[in-house]
Amino acid sequence: MVQTTKLRIAIQKSGRLYEDSVQLLKECGIDLRNVKDRLKTESDNFPLEVFFLRDDDIPQYVEDGVADIGIVGENVLLEKNRQAAVVEKLGFGKCRLSVAIPRSQEYEGVKTLQGKRIATSYPFLVNEFLKKNLVEAEIHEISGSVEIAPGIGLADVVADLVSSGSTLFMNGLKEVEIILQSQAVLVRNNQLTAEQQQLLDKLVFRIRAVKKAQRNKYVLLNAPNEKLQEIIRLLPGMKSPTVLPLAEAGWSSVHSVLSEDTFWDIIEQLKAAGAQGILVVPIEKMIV
Ligand code: ATP
Ligand code: ZN
Repeated sequence: MVQTTKLRIAIQKSGRLYEDSVQLLKECGIDLRNVKDRLKTESDNFPLEVFFLRDDDIPQYVEDGVADIGIVGENVLLEKNRQAAVVEKLGFGKCRLSVAIPRSQEYEGVKTLQGKRIATSYPFLVNEFLKKNLVEAEIHEISGSVEIAPGIGLADVVADLVSSGSTLFMNGLKEVEIILQSQAVLVRNNQLTAEQQQLLDKLVFRIRAVKKAQRNKYVLLNAPNEKLQEIIRLLPGMKSPTVLPLAEAGWSSVHSVLSEDTFWDIIEQLKAAGAQGILVVPIEKMIV
């Protein structure tokens, strides 16, 4: 049977989400043709068509069904306030939308913002934030280089995306409020056909396997047999660790999977318990 149903995904054309979005699809085993400088491309080995767009346009394209799914920052999705449901958080493009004021100024809570001029590219989210906090301020929407607005007298305060905070610092600003924590998410149109839904399920299954693998490491080590029980107790593993005899009598090789949250703690305990020759290898996909 010829497969006719396709899933159309919108991703950022260039910018901070582009590389990670393409990389994620690749890690899901989806090959893309001629990605550079194209408006759209297709995959040869998965019924997926990829549209390259400005991130600001992605929520609307997905709401309208021009694209079935999309990858976009939560910051943009919530700002545009469109009907596109989040299917999965993707763990990259992490940043926050924050309020920052000149470093020289005192900050005494949100009331400090009363009557101020706030420069931002996120008027909707900033307005919601002000309403929630019963503060009245003037919002000046500007589309880029928001952080220079106080320096040139265009505004008193900014609300902008921050990751490390170094841009704010370089512009003499300090972060005083976090409006939103954000990361890239996979969003979907609300009216997918049953076939498209099936394709989406397939894609999400792969994304979860890739993400899970990224959070885990495969660990191999050698252990003297008299220490085996203690070492096995330290290892969570997917079920229980694999134990294989070594050629040298009295020794075993132990294999297991460790999550990055507990990784260093457990490695130290394993060493202390007598484990030797510990090897740590990345996992490509993890299906549990
Ligand atoms: P486009 O041309 O697609 O409109 P853009 O200039 O609006 O691009 P980028 O600067 O490429 O957008 O950022 C895209 C997204 O990356 C942001 O909306 C946000 O979700 C995420 N991001 C992560 N860290 C940061 C950061 N430090 N500053 C700005 N955006 C960040
Ligand atoms: Zn944008």
